[in-house]
Amino acid sequence: MKKEDCIFCKIANGEIPSKTLYEDEKFRVILDLGPATKGHALILPKEHFADLYELPEELAGEVMKTAKRMAEKLRDRLGCEGLNLVQNNGELAGQTVFHFHLHLIPRYRADGQKIGWKPGQPAEEELEETRKTITD
Ligand code: 5GP
Ligand code: ZN
Repeated sequence: MKKEDCIFCKIANGEIPSKTLYEDEKFRVILDLGPATKGHALILPKEHFADLYELPEELAGEVMKTAKRMAEKLRDRLGCEGLNLVQNNGELAGQTVFHFHLHLIPRYRADGQKIGWKPGQPAEEELEETRKTITD
């Protein structure tokens, strides 16, 4: 299903042109318009799912297969020496377009980008408490 006012629905289904790197019946892979580095790509499902929570499990598996193939292509063609996969869910996590997408960000020596977080220092008890909350 498509969502009327969703820009990535329109791009994924070819109603709005994009720099397409790959397309099949379920996905379109495009270049990001505001790339972190050269070759920054987005994998878009053609069906509308707002985020990872809405994405069906089976399609999630296919996203990762597509990511692997695209990662190889980006490495082979652009000569990147590293690659980050980034996938934001929710405004708080930095999502700005609410149609599921997976970022592939090729990394080059001295590319000036930094994708990371500030590591915490939880006590063992806190980690155990968290583990229990999630699993029990
Ligand atoms: P998010 O912050 O939601 O994880 O990522 C959205 C990404 O989509 C951003 O990196 C942004 O540059 C990219 N973007 C937003 N609008 C367009 C567009 O119309 N075309 C393309 N190719 N990329 C877009
Ligand atoms: Zn959409």
